Amino acid sequence: MPITVVGSIAFDTVRTPFGSRERMLGGAAVHFALAASFCEDVRVVGPVGEDFGETELEVLRRRGVDVSDIERVPDGKTFFWEGEYGWDLNSRETIDTQLGVFEGFQPKLSERSRSSEVLFLANIQPDLQLEVARQLPDARFVALDSMNLWIDIARDSLVRAIEGVDCVILNDAELRQLTRKPNLVSAAREILSWGGSSERGHGPSVIVAKQGEYGAALVTRDSFFALPAYPLETVIDPTGAGDTFAGGFVGYIAAHPQEELGEDLLRRAMAHATVLASFNVEEFGTERVERLTGREIVARTGELHAMTQFSGADLQLRG
Ligand code: AMP
Repeated sequence: MPITVVGSIAFDTVRTPFGSRERMLGGAAVHFALAASFCEDVRVVGPVGEDFGETELEVLRRRGVDVSDIERVPDGKTFFWEGEYGWDLNSRETIDTQLGVFEGFQPKLSERSRSSEVLFLANIQPDLQLEVARQLPDARFVALDSMNLWIDIARDSLVRAIEGVDCVILNDAELRQLTRKPNLVSAAREILSWGGSSERGHGPSVIVAKQGEYGAALVTRDSFFALPAYPLETVIDPTGAGDTFAGGFVGYIAAHPQEELGEDLLRRAMAHATVLASFNVEEFGTERVERLTGREIVARTGELHAMTQFSGADLQLRG
């Protein structure tokens, strides 16, 4: 099932203990699209400024991503984000966010983007996410990501957007902040209870909590599953890891249209997503995923499978 994604298309300036990059290609929709393109056709929706060049578009086109709904705004400036990581890469500070062309953007999706059966609302102002979701009322699977900034300044819109989706993918700290629940499982359960009075009569049924270097957890109404991150000795730049994870997760689900959205499919999607995200952090920005191959993904998925399996214990325990 083809996927439409809306979210930031950006220039990122990033400083990590291993170096820095100025105005490299980034943005939630970009990282998502590159990752999902290993599984399915992806259509990106969003504005860029006049400063966004053919070189940047070519990165997406080379992976077969449909860029015809990326609108270039005359005299506009591309979304800009600047961030700096702490010494162990677990903490990140946003130094600057400039919405640029996203300010006042009114999404008008082409027939093609509206025909996608899968929609990903990547991180961006939640009213924009809502506006795009309205244009795909019949999508079979809709997922959403967001971040602390939008919880801080647009919580009501974000809650409304969440009520209309099937799957929420958030950092675990953001899940706690959004629900004001200190415990991850109860935070996820809270979101699973939202949306009962929405137009669809139900809200999300799948919650994914991203936990950075510790992996990710999956919570549904009747199950829990978790995977560690693939262990890497060298992590260079975590920027976009969450979006790459989401691209792997949603892409994998989109590539299995005949399968019920059940525990088995969701767990395999978690593994695929974990592997994709692990490649993303090996180099700055989109550098590593740009030259990633299907063969590398399959090999690492096999390793992750081996390292997360254990057999049933048959020891007769005392007591
Ligand atoms: P992640 O590391 O997965 O959280 O995503 C980082 C990406 O999100 C970067 O490429 C940024 O361009 C983008 N980003 C940062 N802040 C925002 C924001 N407020 N809204 C949308 N995208 C953002």
